[in-house]
Amino acid sequence: MNYFSRSHNRDKNLRPPDLYEYSIDNYWFKAARLEDQVINQPLRGSHTADVVIIGGGYTGLSSAYNIQRKFPEKKIVLLEGACCGYGASGRNGGFLAATDLLHDYDIKDSQLRQDRIDVSFYGLKQVKQVIADHGVDCDFQENGMLNLAFSENQVKRLEKYYKNLNSIGLKSTLLQGEDLEAEIKTPRAVAGQITHHGAIINPAKLAREMKRVVEELDVEVRERTVVTRITPGKVHLVDTELGEIRAPLLVLGLNAYGHKLGLFKNRIIPMCTFIVATEPLSLAQWESIGWKNRQGLSDFRVNFNYSVPAVDGRIVIGGSDLVYYAQDSLSSGNEKTVTRKIKKDLFTTFPQLEGLKFEYAWGGTTAVTVHRTPSVGLLKGHDNIYYGGGYNEGVPSAQTAGRIIADLMVGESNKFTNHYIVNRNIPYTGPLIVRGLGFRMYRWYLSRYD
Ligand SMILES: Cc1cc2nc3c(=O)[nH]c(=O)nc-3n(C[C@H](O)[C@H](O)[C@H](O)COP(=O)(O)OP(=O)(O)OC[C@H]3O[C@@H](n4cnc5c(N)ncnc54)[C@H](O)[C@@H]3O)c2cc1C
Repeated sequence: MNYFSRSHNRDKNLRPPDLYEYSIDNYWFKAARLEDQVINQPLRGSHTADVVIIGGGYTGLSSAYNIQRKFPEKKIVLLEGACCGYGASGRNGGFLAATDLLHDYDIKDSQLRQDRIDVSFYGLKQVKQVIADHGVDCDFQENGMLNLAFSENQVKRLEKYYKNLNSIGLKSTLLQGEDLEAEIKTPRAVAGQITHHGAIINPAKLAREMKRVVEELDVEVRERTVVTRITPGKVHLVDTELGEIRAPLLVLGLNAYGHKLGLFKNRIIPMCTFIVATEPLSLAQWESIGWKNRQGLSDFRVNFNYSVPAVDGRIVIGGSDLVYYAQDSLSSGNEKTVTRKIKKDLFTTFPQLEGLKFEYAWGGTTAVTVHRTPSVGLLKGHDNIYYGGGYNEGVPSAQTAGRIIADLMVGESNKFTNHYIVNRNIPYTGPLIVRGLGFRMYRWYLSRYD
Protein backbone atom coordinates (compact mmCIF):
# COMPACT_ATOMS: atom_id res chain seq x y z
CA MET A 1 0.00 0.00 0.00
CA ASN A 2 1.34 3.38 -1.02
CA TYR A 3 -0.03 6.82 -0.21
CA PHE A 4 1.28 8.13 -3.53
CA SER A 5 -1.18 7.21 -6.24
CA ARG A 6 0.61 6.22 -9.47
CA SER A 7 -2.11 7.81 -11.55
CA HIS A 8 -0.94 11.30 -10.63
CA ASN A 9 1.79 11.18 -13.25
CA ARG A 10 -0.70 10.41 -15.99
CA ASP A 11 -3.06 13.20 -15.02
CA LYS A 12 -2.64 15.98 -17.56
CA ASN A 13 -4.61 18.58 -15.68
CA LEU A 14 -2.84 18.64 -12.37
CA ARG A 15 -3.46 22.22 -11.46
CA PRO A 16 -5.89 22.31 -8.53
CA PRO A 17 -8.75 24.06 -10.35
CA ASP A 18 -10.40 25.66 -7.39
CA LEU A 19 -7.35 26.49 -5.33
CA TYR A 20 -7.25 30.24 -5.55
CA GLU A 21 -9.60 31.52 -8.19
CA TYR A 22 -12.23 32.88 -5.86
CA SER A 23 -11.95 35.57 -3.28
CA ILE A 24 -13.48 34.62 0.01
CA ASP A 25 -15.53 36.64 2.41
CA ASN A 26 -13.36 35.68 5.38
CA TYR A 27 -13.44 37.94 8.43
CA TRP A 28 -10.03 36.69 9.64
CA PHE A 29 -8.40 37.72 6.35
CA LYS A 30 -10.05 41.13 6.61
CA ALA A 31 -8.93 41.62 10.21
CA ALA A 32 -5.41 40.50 9.25
CA ARG A 33 -5.49 43.12 6.45
CA LEU A 34 -4.52 40.49 3.93
CA GLU A 35 -5.33 42.80 1.03
CA ASP A 36 -2.57 45.19 2.17
CA GLN A 37 0.06 42.51 2.59
CA VAL A 38 2.83 41.51 0.22
CA ILE A 39 2.11 38.20 -1.47
CA ASN A 40 5.49 36.86 -2.56
CA GLN A 41 6.50 36.32 -6.16
CA PRO A 42 6.04 32.85 -7.63
CA LEU A 43 8.90 30.49 -8.29
CA ARG A 44 10.11 30.89 -11.87
CA GLY A 45 12.83 28.95 -13.67
CA SER A 46 14.91 26.07 -12.41
CA HIS A 47 16.19 25.88 -8.81
CA THR A 48 17.65 23.57 -6.19
CA ALA A 49 17.26 23.43 -2.41
CA ASP A 50 18.04 21.15 0.51
CA VAL A 51 14.42 20.93 1.60
CA VAL A 52 11.26 21.82 -0.30
CA ILE A 53 8.06 22.27 1.68
CA ILE A 54 4.75 22.25 -0.17
CA GLY A 55 1.88 24.13 1.48
CA GLY A 56 1.91 27.37 3.42
CA GLY A 57 -0.52 26.39 6.16
CA TYR A 58 0.46 25.59 9.73
CA THR A 59 1.95 22.19 8.77
CA GLY A 60 4.25 23.74 6.17
CA LEU A 61 5.07 26.82 8.22
CA SER A 62 5.72 24.91 11.43
CA SER A 63 7.89 22.43 9.52
CA ALA A 64 9.85 25.35 8.07
CA TYR A 65 10.18 26.92 11.52
CA ASN A 66 11.39 23.74 13.20
CA ILE A 67 13.61 22.42 10.40
CA GLN A 68 15.34 25.75 9.86
CA ARG A 69 16.09 26.07 13.58
CA LYS A 70 17.59 22.58 13.63
CA PHE A 71 19.47 23.00 10.35
CA PRO A 72 20.26 26.71 9.98
CA GLU A 73 22.67 25.94 7.12
CA LYS A 74 20.07 24.21 4.93
CA LYS A 75 18.36 26.00 2.10
CA ILE A 76 14.65 25.58 2.65
CA VAL A 77 12.10 26.68 0.08
CA LEU A 78 8.39 26.73 0.91
CA LEU A 79 5.97 26.66 -2.03
CA GLU A 80 2.41 27.88 -1.52
CA GLY A 81 -0.20 27.84 -4.28
CA ALA A 82 -2.06 30.95 -3.17
CA CYS A 83 -0.73 32.78 -0.11
CA CYS A 84 0.36 31.52 3.30
CA GLY A 85 -2.76 30.91 5.36
CA TYR A 86 -5.01 30.59 2.30
CA GLY A 87 -6.16 27.07 3.23
CA ALA A 88 -7.77 25.89 6.45
CA SER A 89 -5.05 27.58 8.50
CA GLY A 90 -6.34 31.06 7.65
CA ARG A 91 -10.04 30.25 7.70
CA ASN A 92 -10.69 28.12 10.75
CA GLY A 93 -12.69 28.68 13.90
CA GLY A 94 -9.75 30.07 15.86
CA PHE A 95 -9.72 27.34 18.53
CA LEU A 96 -6.23 26.56 19.74
CA ALA A 97 -6.92 23.61 22.01
CA ALA A 98 -4.39 21.77 24.12
CA THR A 99 -6.05 18.39 24.45
CA ASP A 100 -6.37 17.17 20.87
CA LEU A 101 -3.58 14.60 20.93
CA LEU A 102 -4.26 13.01 24.33
CA HIS A 103 -6.27 10.23 22.65
CA ASP A 104 -6.43 7.66 25.47
CA TYR A 105 -6.73 8.45 29.12
CA ASP A 106 -5.98 5.13 30.77
CA ILE A 107 -2.22 5.03 30.25
CA LYS A 108 -0.82 3.54 33.44
CA ASP A 109 2.83 4.44 32.89
CA SER A 110 3.20 7.91 34.42
CA GLN A 111 6.12 8.93 32.17
CA LEU A 112 4.25 7.92 29.04
CA ARG A 113 1.18 9.77 30.30
CA GLN A 114 3.22 12.92 30.87
CA ASP A 115 4.84 12.57 27.43
CA ARG A 116 1.40 12.34 25.87
CA ILE A 117 0.30 15.49 27.67
CA ASP A 118 3.48 17.33 26.66
CA VAL A 119 3.02 16.46 22.99
CA SER A 120 -0.65 17.39 23.08
CA PHE A 121 0.14 20.74 24.70
CA TYR A 122 3.01 21.40 22.31
CA GLY A 123 0.96 23.21 19.64
CA LEU A 124 -0.22 25.75 22.19
CA LYS A 125 3.29 26.03 23.59
CA GLN A 126 4.84 26.68 20.20
CA VAL A 127 2.36 29.43 19.39
CA LYS A 128 3.19 31.05 22.73
CA GLN A 129 6.86 30.67 21.87
CA VAL A 130 6.58 32.47 18.51
CA ILE A 131 4.55 35.19 20.20
CA ALA A 132 7.23 35.65 22.89
CA ASP A 133 10.30 35.23 20.67
CA HIS A 134 9.15 36.92 17.49
CA GLY A 135 6.42 39.33 18.60
CA VAL A 136 3.76 37.43 16.64
CA ASP A 137 0.45 39.27 16.83
CA CYS A 138 -2.50 36.90 16.41
CA ASP A 139 -5.04 38.20 18.95
CA PHE A 140 -4.07 35.33 21.24
CA GLN A 141 -6.36 35.00 24.27
CA GLU A 142 -5.64 32.09 26.59
CA ASN A 143 -9.09 31.73 28.09
CA GLY A 144 -9.63 27.97 27.95
CA MET A 145 -12.62 26.24 26.41
CA LEU A 146 -16.28 26.04 27.39
CA ASN A 147 -18.30 23.04 26.17
CA LEU A 148 -22.07 22.82 26.38
CA ALA A 149 -24.49 19.90 26.43
CA PHE A 150 -27.99 20.40 25.05
CA SER A 151 -29.41 16.96 25.93
CA GLU A 152 -28.99 14.18 28.49
CA ASN A 153 -26.97 12.06 26.05
CA GLN A 154 -24.61 14.95 25.51
CA VAL A 155 -24.34 15.44 29.28
CA LYS A 156 -23.09 11.85 29.53
CA ARG A 157 -20.42 12.53 26.89
CA LEU A 158 -19.47 15.78 28.57
CA GLU A 159 -19.12 14.09 31.97
CA LYS A 160 -16.98 11.37 30.46
CA TYR A 161 -14.67 13.95 28.95
CA TYR A 162 -14.53 15.83 32.27
CA LYS A 163 -13.60 12.62 34.14
CA ASN A 164 -10.99 11.72 31.53
CA LEU A 165 -9.27 15.07 31.84
CA ASN A 166 -9.30 14.96 35.62
CA SER A 167 -8.02 11.38 35.64
CA ILE A 168 -4.78 12.53 34.05
CA GLY A 169 -4.47 15.58 36.26
CA LEU A 170 -5.81 18.23 33.85
CA LYS A 171 -8.10 20.66 35.54
CA SER A 172 -11.64 20.71 34.28
CA THR A 173 -14.89 21.98 35.80
CA LEU A 174 -18.45 20.75 35.35
CA LEU A 175 -21.16 23.39 35.33
CA GLN A 176 -24.85 23.23 36.03
CA GLY A 177 -27.59 25.57 37.22
CA GLU A 178 -26.30 28.87 38.59
CA ASP A 179 -22.65 28.03 37.88
CA LEU A 180 -23.49 27.45 34.25
CA GLU A 181 -25.55 30.62 34.08
CA ALA A 182 -22.66 32.58 35.59
CA GLU A 183 -20.53 31.53 32.59
CA ILE A 184 -23.08 31.74 29.81
CA LYS A 185 -26.74 32.64 29.48
CA THR A 186 -28.45 30.27 27.10
CA PRO A 187 -31.77 28.46 27.54
CA ARG A 188 -30.43 25.65 25.38
CA ALA A 189 -27.69 24.24 27.62
CA VAL A 190 -28.41 21.75 30.38
CA ALA A 191 -24.79 21.41 31.45
CA GLY A 192 -21.38 22.81 30.68
CA GLN A 193 -17.75 21.92 31.15
CA ILE A 194 -14.69 24.10 31.25
CA THR A 195 -11.31 22.96 30.02
CA HIS A 196 -8.89 25.34 31.69
CA HIS A 197 -6.37 25.08 28.88
CA GLY A 198 -6.36 26.39 25.35
CA ALA A 199 -6.65 29.69 23.60
CA ILE A 200 -8.46 31.50 20.82
CA ILE A 201 -6.70 33.35 18.03
CA ASN A 202 -7.16 35.07 14.71
CA PRO A 203 -5.90 32.10 12.65
CA ALA A 204 -5.09 34.12 9.52
CA LYS A 205 -2.95 36.51 11.54
CA LEU A 206 -1.08 33.54 13.00
CA ALA A 207 -0.40 32.09 9.54
CA ARG A 208 0.68 35.41 8.06
CA GLU A 209 2.89 36.14 11.04
CA MET A 210 4.46 32.70 10.87
CA LYS A 211 5.32 33.45 7.27
CA ARG A 212 7.23 36.51 8.53
CA VAL A 213 8.95 34.46 11.24
CA VAL A 214 10.21 31.75 8.89
CA GLU A 215 11.40 34.36 6.41
CA GLU A 216 13.33 36.04 9.21
CA LEU A 217 14.92 32.63 9.84
CA ASP A 218 15.96 32.60 6.16
CA VAL A 219 13.38 30.26 4.69
CA GLU A 220 12.55 31.25 1.11
CA VAL A 221 8.78 31.50 0.76
CA ARG A 222 7.27 31.41 -2.70
CA GLU A 223 3.56 32.23 -2.88
CA ARG A 224 1.25 32.00 -5.93
CA THR A 225 3.30 28.90 -6.75
CA VAL A 226 1.02 25.99 -7.55
CA VAL A 227 2.84 22.67 -7.56
CA THR A 228 1.64 20.69 -10.55
CA ARG A 229 3.62 17.52 -10.21
CA ILE A 230 5.97 15.73 -7.84
CA THR A 231 8.41 13.24 -9.29
CA PRO A 232 9.91 11.42 -6.31
CA GLY A 233 13.48 10.15 -6.37
CA LYS A 234 16.78 10.40 -4.53
CA VAL A 235 16.52 14.02 -5.55
CA HIS A 236 12.87 14.93 -6.02
CA LEU A 237 11.67 17.05 -8.90
CA VAL A 238 8.84 19.42 -8.05
CA ASP A 239 7.18 21.07 -11.04
CA THR A 240 5.27 24.27 -10.53
CA GLU A 241 3.21 26.30 -12.98
CA LEU A 242 6.13 28.56 -13.86
CA GLY A 243 9.21 26.67 -12.74
CA GLU A 244 10.73 23.62 -11.15
CA ILE A 245 12.82 22.84 -8.11
CA ARG A 246 14.91 19.84 -7.09
CA ALA A 247 15.65 18.80 -3.52
CA PRO A 248 16.62 15.61 -1.69
CA LEU A 249 14.06 16.24 1.08
CA LEU A 250 10.40 17.01 0.66
CA VAL A 251 7.72 17.96 3.19
CA LEU A 252 4.04 17.76 2.25
CA GLY A 253 1.84 20.17 4.18
CA LEU A 254 -1.22 19.78 2.01
CA ASN A 255 -3.79 18.33 4.42
CA ALA A 256 -7.12 18.33 2.51
CA TYR A 257 -5.54 19.31 -0.82
CA GLY A 258 -3.17 16.36 -1.23
CA HIS A 259 -5.44 14.28 -3.47
CA LYS A 260 -5.09 16.91 -6.21
CA LEU A 261 -1.49 15.76 -6.52
CA GLY A 262 -2.36 12.09 -6.19
CA LEU A 263 -1.50 11.96 -2.50
CA PHE A 264 -3.54 10.09 0.11
CA LYS A 265 -6.29 9.50 -2.44
CA ASN A 266 -9.13 7.46 -0.88
CA ARG A 267 -7.47 7.83 2.53
CA ILE A 268 -7.79 11.47 3.51
CA ILE A 269 -11.28 12.81 2.86
CA PRO A 270 -11.67 16.51 2.14
CA MET A 271 -14.64 17.78 4.14
CA CYS A 272 -15.98 21.31 4.08
CA THR A 273 -17.07 23.33 7.07
CA PHE A 274 -18.49 26.83 7.10
CA ILE A 275 -18.35 29.91 9.30
CA VAL A 276 -20.14 33.23 9.69
CA ALA A 277 -19.18 36.37 11.58
CA THR A 278 -21.79 38.65 13.07
CA GLU A 279 -21.61 42.40 13.29
CA PRO A 280 -19.94 43.59 16.55
CA LEU A 281 -22.25 43.17 19.54
CA SER A 282 -23.14 46.11 21.77
CA LEU A 283 -22.12 45.98 25.43
CA ALA A 284 -25.75 45.33 26.35
CA GLN A 285 -25.84 42.36 23.95
CA TRP A 286 -22.66 40.94 25.46
CA GLU A 287 -24.11 41.31 28.95
CA SER A 288 -27.30 39.56 27.86
CA ILE A 289 -25.39 36.40 26.91
CA GLY A 290 -22.83 36.38 29.71
CA TRP A 291 -19.76 34.61 28.24
CA LYS A 292 -17.64 37.03 30.23
CA ASN A 293 -14.59 34.76 30.27
CA ARG A 294 -14.52 34.68 26.46
CA GLN A 295 -13.56 31.02 26.08
CA GLY A 296 -13.76 29.10 22.84
CA LEU A 297 -17.39 27.91 22.97
CA SER A 298 -18.49 24.57 21.60
CA ASP A 299 -21.19 21.97 22.12
CA PHE A 300 -21.31 18.21 22.20
CA ARG A 301 -23.69 17.53 19.31
CA VAL A 302 -22.56 15.54 16.28
CA ASN A 303 -23.17 18.62 14.14
CA PHE A 304 -21.73 20.93 16.74
CA ASN A 305 -21.06 24.66 16.60
CA TYR A 306 -17.77 26.28 17.43
CA SER A 307 -17.74 29.98 18.29
CA VAL A 308 -15.27 32.54 19.49
CA PRO A 309 -15.60 36.17 20.49
CA ALA A 310 -13.43 38.19 18.11
CA VAL A 311 -11.41 41.05 19.58
CA ASP A 312 -13.64 43.67 17.97
CA GLY A 313 -16.73 42.31 19.72
CA ARG A 314 -18.31 40.15 17.03
CA ILE A 315 -19.06 36.44 17.30
CA VAL A 316 -17.40 34.12 14.81
CA ILE A 317 -19.40 30.89 14.65
CA GLY A 318 -19.08 27.82 12.47
CA GLY A 319 -20.20 24.22 12.25
CA SER A 320 -23.84 22.98 12.22
CA ASP A 321 -22.93 20.60 9.41
CA LEU A 322 -19.95 19.12 7.61
CA VAL A 323 -20.24 18.75 3.85
CA TYR A 324 -18.66 16.28 1.49
CA TYR A 325 -18.68 17.35 -2.17
CA ALA A 326 -18.69 14.69 -4.87
CA GLN A 327 -15.33 13.75 -6.40
CA ASP A 328 -13.49 15.10 -3.35
CA SER A 329 -14.09 18.69 -4.50
CA LEU A 330 -12.89 21.54 -2.34
CA SER A 331 -15.10 24.08 -0.63
CA SER A 332 -16.57 26.80 -2.82
CA GLY A 333 -15.97 29.22 0.04
CA ASN A 334 -19.61 29.58 0.99
CA GLU A 335 -22.58 27.22 1.24
CA LYS A 336 -25.82 29.00 1.96
CA THR A 337 -27.76 25.97 3.23
CA VAL A 338 -25.15 25.52 5.94
CA THR A 339 -24.62 29.18 6.79
CA ARG A 340 -28.41 29.48 7.21
CA LYS A 341 -28.29 26.60 9.71
CA ILE A 342 -25.44 28.27 11.60
CA LYS A 343 -27.35 31.54 11.89
CA LYS A 344 -30.45 29.68 13.11
CA ASP A 345 -28.33 27.76 15.59
CA LEU A 346 -26.85 30.98 16.97
CA PHE A 347 -30.31 32.38 17.68
CA THR A 348 -31.48 29.10 19.23
CA THR A 349 -28.53 29.23 21.59
CA PHE A 350 -28.88 32.95 22.22
CA PRO A 351 -32.46 34.10 21.47
CA GLN A 352 -31.44 37.37 23.13
CA LEU A 353 -29.45 38.16 19.97
CA GLU A 354 -32.34 37.76 17.52
CA GLY A 355 -32.00 40.45 14.84
CA LEU A 356 -28.20 40.57 15.02
CA LYS A 357 -26.73 40.99 11.54
CA PHE A 358 -24.13 38.85 9.83
CA GLU A 359 -21.30 40.48 7.97
CA TYR A 360 -19.12 37.62 6.68
CA ALA A 361 -19.61 34.03 5.56
CA TRP A 362 -16.93 31.67 4.33
CA GLY A 363 -15.84 28.09 4.42
CA GLY A 364 -12.86 25.87 4.02
CA THR A 365 -11.74 22.34 3.48
CA THR A 366 -10.38 20.21 6.22
CA ALA A 367 -9.13 16.64 6.13
CA VAL A 368 -10.84 13.72 7.79
CA THR A 369 -9.60 10.17 8.21
CA VAL A 370 -11.83 7.17 8.86
CA HIS A 371 -10.33 6.60 12.31
CA ARG A 372 -10.45 10.34 13.07
CA THR A 373 -6.74 10.32 13.83
CA PRO A 374 -4.04 12.41 12.20
CA SER A 375 -0.91 10.93 10.74
CA VAL A 376 2.54 12.52 10.56
CA GLY A 377 5.75 10.94 9.36
CA LEU A 378 7.54 9.49 6.38
CA LEU A 379 5.50 8.69 3.31
CA LYS A 380 5.27 4.92 2.89
CA GLY A 381 7.87 3.61 0.49
CA HIS A 382 10.04 6.75 0.76
CA ASP A 383 12.75 7.71 3.21
CA ASN A 384 12.92 11.36 2.16
CA ILE A 385 9.31 12.55 1.91
CA TYR A 386 7.65 13.74 5.12
CA TYR A 387 3.99 14.61 5.57
CA GLY A 388 1.41 15.63 8.14
CA GLY A 389 -2.37 15.70 7.85
CA GLY A 390 -5.81 14.41 8.80
CA TYR A 391 -5.99 16.49 11.97
CA ASN A 392 -9.09 16.86 14.11
CA GLU A 393 -7.95 20.07 15.69
CA GLY A 394 -5.26 21.08 13.27
CA VAL A 395 -4.59 24.52 14.74
CA PRO A 396 -2.49 23.00 17.52
CA SER A 397 -1.77 19.61 15.92
CA ALA A 398 -0.35 20.94 12.65
CA GLN A 399 2.05 23.05 14.73
CA THR A 400 3.08 19.86 16.49
CA ALA A 401 3.40 18.03 13.16
CA GLY A 402 6.12 20.48 12.11
CA ARG A 403 8.06 19.71 15.26
CA ILE A 404 7.65 15.96 14.72
CA ILE A 405 8.81 16.21 11.10
CA ALA A 406 11.93 18.17 12.09
CA ASP A 407 12.76 15.66 14.84
CA LEU A 408 12.27 12.74 12.44
CA MET A 409 14.56 14.44 9.94
CA VAL A 410 17.30 14.66 12.57
CA GLY A 411 16.73 11.00 13.42
CA GLU A 412 15.78 11.67 17.02
CA SER A 413 13.91 9.17 19.15
CA ASN A 414 11.83 11.08 21.67
CA LYS A 415 8.28 11.67 22.89
CA PHE A 416 7.45 13.44 19.62
CA THR A 417 8.82 10.86 17.22
CA ASN A 418 7.38 8.00 19.30
CA HIS A 419 3.92 9.49 19.52
CA TYR A 420 1.02 7.32 18.34
CA ILE A 421 0.27 9.57 15.33
CA VAL A 422 3.74 9.06 13.85
CA ASN A 423 3.55 6.97 10.67
CA ARG A 424 0.06 5.98 11.70
CA ASN A 425 -1.75 3.99 9.06
CA ILE A 426 -4.48 5.95 7.28
CA PRO A 427 -7.27 3.50 6.47
CA TYR A 428 -8.95 3.18 3.09
CA THR A 429 -12.17 5.22 2.94
CA GLY A 430 -14.05 3.10 0.44
CA PRO A 431 -14.68 3.97 -3.21
CA LEU A 432 -15.27 7.57 -4.23
CA ILE A 433 -18.74 6.81 -5.52
CA VAL A 434 -20.18 5.79 -2.13
CA ARG A 435 -18.12 8.13 0.01
CA GLY A 436 -20.62 10.98 0.32
CA LEU A 437 -23.54 8.68 1.03
CA GLY A 438 -21.54 6.57 3.50
CA PHE A 439 -20.46 9.63 5.36
CA ARG A 440 -23.99 11.07 5.58
CA MET A 441 -25.37 7.76 6.84
CA TYR A 442 -22.66 7.52 9.47
CA ARG A 443 -23.41 11.01 10.76
CA TRP A 444 -27.15 10.37 10.68
CA TYR A 445 -26.57 7.22 12.72
CA LEU A 446 -24.47 9.10 15.28
CA SER A 447 -26.90 12.00 15.54
CA ARG A 448 -29.67 9.61 16.64
CA TYR A 449 -27.83 9.55 19.95
CA ASP A 450 -27.61 13.32 20.23
C1 LIG B 1 -13.65 26.21 8.37
C2 LIG B 1 -12.67 25.44 9.22
C3 LIG B 1 -12.71 25.58 10.61
C4 LIG B 1 -11.77 24.92 11.40
N1 LIG B 1 -11.74 25.18 12.74
C5 LIG B 1 -10.72 24.71 13.50
C6 LIG B 1 -10.54 25.16 14.82
O1 LIG B 1 -11.24 26.06 15.31
N2 LIG B 1 -9.53 24.61 15.55
C7 LIG B 1 -8.71 23.65 15.03
O2 LIG B 1 -7.83 23.18 15.74
N3 LIG B 1 -8.83 23.24 13.74
C8 LIG B 1 -9.79 23.79 12.95
N4 LIG B 1 -9.88 23.44 11.63
C9 LIG B 1 -8.87 22.54 11.05
C10 LIG B 1 -7.52 23.26 10.87
O3 LIG B 1 -7.71 24.57 10.38
C11 LIG B 1 -6.63 22.46 9.91
O4 LIG B 1 -6.51 21.14 10.39
C12 LIG B 1 -5.23 23.03 9.77
O5 LIG B 1 -5.27 24.41 9.51
C13 LIG B 1 -4.48 22.30 8.67
O6 LIG B 1 -3.29 22.98 8.38
P1 LIG B 1 -2.43 22.51 7.13
O7 LIG B 1 -1.27 23.42 7.04
O8 LIG B 1 -2.13 21.07 7.25
O9 LIG B 1 -3.39 22.67 5.89
P2 LIG B 1 -3.88 24.01 5.16
O10 LIG B 1 -3.96 25.15 6.08
O11 LIG B 1 -5.13 23.65 4.42
O12 LIG B 1 -2.70 24.34 4.17
C14 LIG B 1 -2.50 23.66 2.96
C15 LIG B 1 -1.93 24.70 1.98
O13 LIG B 1 -1.49 24.02 0.81
C16 LIG B 1 -1.71 24.88 -0.28
N5 LIG B 1 -1.75 24.06 -1.50
C17 LIG B 1 -2.68 23.14 -1.83
N6 LIG B 1 -2.36 22.56 -3.01
C18 LIG B 1 -1.20 23.12 -3.41
C19 LIG B 1 -0.37 22.94 -4.53
N7 LIG B 1 -0.65 22.05 -5.49
N8 LIG B 1 0.76 23.70 -4.64
C20 LIG B 1 1.08 24.58 -3.67
N9 LIG B 1 0.32 24.79 -2.58
C21 LIG B 1 -0.80 24.07 -2.45
C22 LIG B 1 -3.06 25.54 0.03
O14 LIG B 1 -3.24 26.76 -0.67
C23 LIG B 1 -2.96 25.72 1.55
O15 LIG B 1 -2.51 27.02 1.90
C24 LIG B 1 -10.83 24.06 10.81
C25 LIG B 1 -10.82 23.88 9.42
C26 LIG B 1 -11.72 24.58 8.63
C27 LIG B 1 -11.68 24.42 7.15
